[in-house]
Amino acid sequence: MIRLNENYQNLKDSYLFYNIAQKTKEYLEENPGKKLYRMGIGDVSLPLASAVCTALHTAVDDQSKKESFHGYMPECGAPSLRQTIADYYKKRNVKLSPEEVFVSSGASDELGDILDLFSKESTALIMEPAYPAYVDANIMAGRKIIHLPSGEANGFLPGPSAELDADLIYICSPNNPTGAVFTKEQLKEWVDFANERGAIIIFDAAYEAFIEENLPHSIFEIEGARSCAIEICSLSKTAGFTGTRVGYTVIPKDLERGGQNVNAMWVRNRTTKTNGVSYILQRGGAAVFTPEGQEQIHRNIAIYKNNAKVLMKVLDELGITYFGGKNAPYIWMKCPNGMGSWEFFDLLLREIQVVGTPGEGFGACGEGYFRFSTFGDPEDTKEAARRIKELLSK
Ligand SMILES: *Cc1c(COP(=O)(O)O)cnc(C)c1O
Repeated sequence: MIRLNENYQNLKDSYLFYNIAQKTKEYLEENPGKKLYRMGIGDVSLPLASAVCTALHTAVDDQSKKESFHGYMPECGAPSLRQTIADYYKKRNVKLSPEEVFVSSGASDELGDILDLFSKESTALIMEPAYPAYVDANIMAGRKIIHLPSGEANGFLPGPSAELDADLIYICSPNNPTGAVFTKEQLKEWVDFANERGAIIIFDAAYEAFIEENLPHSIFEIEGARSCAIEICSLSKTAGFTGTRVGYTVIPKDLERGGQNVNAMWVRNRTTKTNGVSYILQRGGAAVFTPEGQEQIHRNIAIYKNNAKVLMKVLDELGITYFGGKNAPYIWMKCPNGMGSWEFFDLLLREIQVVGTPGEGFGACGEGYFRFSTFGDPEDTKEAARRIKELLSK
């Protein structure tokens, strides 16, 4: 009998979003017709920019004519799009060659697939609270996970320490779920730590476009990162591509371990295991980086940011401690009066019909915290903020 990957038996049921769905369903069955204010999901709500839609339509038309038809695309991405993305990094004074940029079908795919490059014996350091996929992808691969909890004392931005036995280091900045962003100095500590140990940082930059203060958008803004980091990014949150699927991964040519070159390994991996991202989607993705596309996506981001402002104002007025909101589409608040995450979830749902995400679902140190997403409808966000204020000022 074939043996299956037994590591799957070590996965914990991802009860977080399932539990939320169950609880809201029960509530609606008991209270039919009640309107809910959904501030829980990490999915965008605004449509694609018109520059992207025009490019997608044109690309479909190209595929309909013999003269402009494209068959297989290069596995690592269309050279023009790889160049366009490399140019995008120039804004941050990061010099990349197009061969260091890989066009992908999104960050989640890459976060899972990239693990193919590392030995099963390597350890993965995951800073918590964390995006659940980091943990699960490493459990599936049978890798030992080192959980690094964070909290209010370090602003949910933990630093390295000598006793951490880490080979792969996950950094998500701006962070999901806390919205916290590492400074250059803090990232430099992690880069130095990784270079000293020969570890590799996997930097998830999915929310870089939400940064408005003077904080690093890319790990490659940090000196020394070219010899220890991979950056995984996506147009999902930046440009509303969650259901369209384009992302990119940056692997410097300088990144080597034990005589093996990571960029060359990834080229080999992609050319073996994929046939690239579709021509149509790459054209749509390229439109994001045009001046028109940038202007349009930033108009949408500004709408989400305004949602964050509305919520932050209420939390400030209530004197509630929170993180994020300024440079990220998430607000991570401390539950009032020492309440637990799920207790606060129930209170908001039952009393004011607001649905958020209990922090405990992102790791044990998230207990006592609550995540609001600012990707929702502006009118609903205003009403939810009004209700939160009314409930908590009682
Ligand atoms: C949403 C999100 C992504 C993006 O995933 P895609 O697969 O590109 O849609 C990546 N990382 C984090 C932390 C996210 O929250």
